[in-house]
Amino acid sequence: MTFIRRAAACSLLLGILILISGNVAAQTQINWDAVQKEALDLFIQYLKIDTTNPPGNETRAANFFAEICKREGIEHKIFEPFPGRGTLWARLKGDGSQRPVILLNHTDVVPHSPEFWSVPAFSGQIKDGFVYGRGAQDMKSVGLAQFISMLALKRARVPLKRDIIFLATADEEAGGLQGAGWFAKNHAELLGKAEFLFNEGGNNVVDAGGKVLAIGVGPSEKTPAWLRLTATGEPGHGSVPRPNSSVNRLLRALNRLLEYSPPIHLTPVVEQSFKALAPLMTTELAAKYSNVRDAIKDPAFTRILESDPGAKALTRNTISVTMLNGSNKVNVIPPVATAEIDTRLVPGEKLDRWIAELRGVIKDDSIKIEPILAFEANASPIDTEVVKAVAEVVNRRYPGAIISYPVLAGFTDSHYFRELGIHSYGFSPFVAPNRELGGGFHGNDERIGKKAFVDGVKFFYEIVERLAK
Ligand SMILES: [Zn+2]
Repeated sequence: MTFIRRAAACSLLLGILILISGNVAAQTQINWDAVQKEALDLFIQYLKIDTTNPPGNETRAANFFAEICKREGIEHKIFEPFPGRGTLWARLKGDGSQRPVILLNHTDVVPHSPEFWSVPAFSGQIKDGFVYGRGAQDMKSVGLAQFISMLALKRARVPLKRDIIFLATADEEAGGLQGAGWFAKNHAELLGKAEFLFNEGGNNVVDAGGKVLAIGVGPSEKTPAWLRLTATGEPGHGSVPRPNSSVNRLLRALNRLLEYSPPIHLTPVVEQSFKALAPLMTTELAAKYSNVRDAIKDPAFTRILESDPGAKALTRNTISVTMLNGSNKVNVIPPVATAEIDTRLVPGEKLDRWIAELRGVIKDDSIKIEPILAFEANASPIDTEVVKAVAEVVNRRYPGAIISYPVLAGFTDSHYFRELGIHSYGFSPFVAPNRELGGGFHGNDERIGKKAFVDGVKFFYEIVERLAK
């Protein structure tokens, strides 16, 4: 189902103090207390929408945003290429002198186990200064901050050089093929040759005393290379063992993979990420982080670097054996046995080269290796207007904080848009010490600090305004 709504010009000006002189419509000033209160109310409503994927039902979330767009006179459209899996696209027009910026967010959330939660996961309850709900971190909070930015720009009649495109997509938690992937493939024309995109995936560093040390603008992520290994062999009865049965071949191959440690493979985007963090290190480590390529020749340094599992995941391709399938009867030697393995590649790695490396490790040409899900690893540059805009706002808000360029060990929908040539960045506007930020990302009692949330809404607005005005 596809439909379009274009409502009349906005008549609701909640939160806006109009500063109009004469009869020319001028920009209005934003009353942030009112906007932040409204943002919190909308966030709670949004958290109450159950978009657990599977099955998703993201059309509910698309309708939530569409209703507000309709009320506010923001151009928008819902796409539902798969039943219940709605994606919302909305646009604020600029004057066209610069290319659009996309605010990308996914509306689906991962499943939860109610018995481990202290509040119902879709109640949007506020408790002890935290807003609870599945999606509070990942990523309904970011999506709402993005949406409020667009809304506030619209209401304040800020003249824009770029279109602002808000894209709330389905299915990210299952790979995005029914959401962002579908949209990027089928409706690139609605992205208006966008130049930039904001998505989830940044990482900010704040010390326990509340001093902001680093604001992250994530230019890249590791890439999944999910592979299926298939072994074949002569079938038979379990009473007569066959040394080269499919199962035995597969187990030998997997065992070789488990014993294998992929070598350090430092790519430029990861090198740049370490270098950006150097100012936060002790003098001795700072010198090493500034030049990780040389520093990792020293095993003592590599041990220090890789004692952080997050850092280790960025320096090497990784292998996790996750799914196995052999006979469905204990006394039958099956003709085929399969394993699915979750391997992740450092940005810049090539899938063919990696599979060739694994073949060399497995040393059994009869085992077939095929990709189940794999993307081209990609990265965005850091000498762009987005990074400049963030740095400018950060200098004003958090003097002394550095801009870092974190590379995500997981993956998001950004790769679909980088494939279209759009510079895409992971960014979170929520800045607080861990104890005030909340947590529970994909876990129990997912929550975000109320203050961190409302502050973040304004922070995000400032960046979008700086970039598009
Ligand atoms: Zn997410």
